[in-house]
Amino acid sequence: MTIKVSDNGNYVFGGVDTVELVKEYNTPLYVVSEEVINEKCKKIRDTFLYKYDNVKAAYASKAFLNLAMCKIVEREGLCLDVVSGGELYTAICAGFPMEKIFFHGNNKSIDELELAISKDVGRIVVDNLYELKLVNDIGKKMEKKPKVLYRVSPGVDSKTHKYVVTGQKDSKFGIPIVEDKIFEAIKIGMEYENVEVLGLHFHVGSQIFDNESHIKAVDKVMGIIKTAKESLGFVTRELNTGGGYGIYYTEDDTPKPLSYFTDSIMETVYQKCREFELSVPTVIIEPGRWIIGEAGITLYTIGSIKEIPGIRTYAAVDGGLPDNPRPALYGSKYDAVVANKADEDAVQTVTIAGKCCESGDILIWDLKVPEIEPGDILAVRSTGAYNYSMASNYNKLPRPAVVLVNEGRAEVIVQRETYEDLVGRYHIPEHLR
Ligand code: PLP
Repeated sequence: MTIKVSDNGNYVFGGVDTVELVKEYNTPLYVVSEEVINEKCKKIRDTFLYKYDNVKAAYASKAFLNLAMCKIVEREGLCLDVVSGGELYTAICAGFPMEKIFFHGNNKSIDELELAISKDVGRIVVDNLYELKLVNDIGKKMEKKPKVLYRVSPGVDSKTHKYVVTGQKDSKFGIPIVEDKIFEAIKIGMEYENVEVLGLHFHVGSQIFDNESHIKAVDKVMGIIKTAKESLGFVTRELNTGGGYGIYYTEDDTPKPLSYFTDSIMETVYQKCREFELSVPTVIIEPGRWIIGEAGITLYTIGSIKEIPGIRTYAAVDGGLPDNPRPALYGSKYDAVVANKADEDAVQTVTIAGKCCESGDILIWDLKVPEIEPGDILAVRSTGAYNYSMASNYNKLPRPAVVLVNEGRAEVIVQRETYEDLVGRYHIPEHLR
């Protein structure tokens, strides 16, 4: 992947000199490019929303969510997928149109469902029969009829990390489409007076490069749609096909264009509808990582550099596992540039260690870098998705700020946490004072 470099050799991201950003905002720092998000959303509009009739795209907000992101998603004409009361509340605070929200989750609480139903959230993606009853009961109490989709597990394995495969038979998510469970659920949903079942949803997994599992899942689910119509008279009006499209982290990754996935999903839906003589449902896609992943970088300051002769050199940065748990969690790989030496040739291989008290807190193994010294700035790339949103305060490290950059402008959209924030909600019981 090519990068932009300023005349003085600094890495430029979103039109902004990243070394200047560090002078102003310090490190560790998440930087998000509005331009990259806009390009991705335009791609979704041009190659999917404008190309096909009766389709929708939702941004899976678990990847990266805050008020500014809600505003961008709304402006770009996408719907929003939320997965908890907290994500829903964020969307409410941003004034996001409630009818454009899909509310997911495999164990939504009564409070979360009450909030969603009271706000007339667009779709509740019901995970199981227990939840369906809760939604119906709350609907009755509030004199509402929430629109729901059923999350199904299509029994499809995807070629990705086992922690981000979600569509296989042995999954905690969704109603299995085997053993008639799904038909039982549809029947019950049709009988309930306070839910309106509109269709089905699946999500096969994340960081996927091959369209095979999406096609297989559509194929299987279309079979369910056919049988549900024939045996129960249930007409599926919506089919939400989830997200999962892979992005570029390192040169091992070979991302395909969005249309590689969306065209094959649509072709399969059309073909199966023709074959089974079904009307074509509204088709929804739900990418998260694909929209925001490559739009983000994280800037760190390099501190201690430890050379173990004949073995390896560790360069430690001022963040790590708490701002990016993905390498420790999934063995995820990242690429990085030394931001203040972006025009210099690589002359050595170092391993980038985080500052956490965990041997597993290694951000990048064997990164090729120029001569480095303490105080250099490291820019880890493609950190937009599931970094800020998965961040913790482990080792009592305050979470970094998030700065939005566009055309040379930089604005803070999430403030850096302070030590006061870390202790602000603690209480000492009377007997310990
Ligand atoms: N939709 C659902 C239901 C999900 O669970 C997820 C991710 O876990 C997504 C969409 C987004 O996945 P990705 O970020 O890989 O596109």
